[in-house]
Amino acid sequence: MAILKILRYGDPVLRQKAKEVSKISKKIKTLIENMLDTMYAANGVGLAAPQVGENLRIFVIDVSKDDEPYKPMVFVNPKIIKKEGAICVKEGCLSFPEAYVNVRRYSDVMVKALDMNGKPFVMEAHNGELLAYAIQHENDHLDGVLFVDHSRNIFEATEALQKYNLPQLEKDKLLDETELEDAILQKESQMKNSKENGGAN
Ligand code: ZN
Repeated sequence: MAILKILRYGDPVLRQKAKEVSKISKKIKTLIENMLDTMYAANGVGLAAPQVGENLRIFVIDVSKDDEPYKPMVFVNPKIIKKEGAICVKEGCLSFPEAYVNVRRYSDVMVKALDMNGKPFVMEAHNGELLAYAIQHENDHLDGVLFVDHSRNIFEATEALQKYNLPQLEKDKLLDETELEDAILQKESQMKNSKENGGAN
């Protein structure tokens, strides 16, 4: 067991594209175990290999609640094969201690990956559940994309980063997500309407 050092926002490694894992060697297994230990020690929901300085396509997630037993999930060479629906969620990241920002995500995803033993699996997550956006967040890390690149509100993101003494928002990295934004706005106005008509229909 080893707790690894988590790189902070500003470290160039977090902006690199990670490499496929060619073989799940003993060394890779140890890395995965250490990533899980590190994630649990930091009270995180997910951790990607680049966050501990390893330029490899691996991430781990555990969305179990505090009163539930651990349920570690390991994703090696993951690929998101389907994504649909839109949600706005407030996310944080172990590389951005304490900063939380509203971001755009898909509400439903399907991912395929290899588990710790090299066995392929497919996993689905729906309705904007934590697992759905955790998969997107961690998968992004493997392509050097960070959650703040999905910010819905630049001012909010800028303020959150400043408040916790993190480097500035990299505006050239912000993603053009017009379609996602439109879908979120539509959903929000539907929710507002149904609230206003509360019980009338
Ligand atoms: Zn993260």
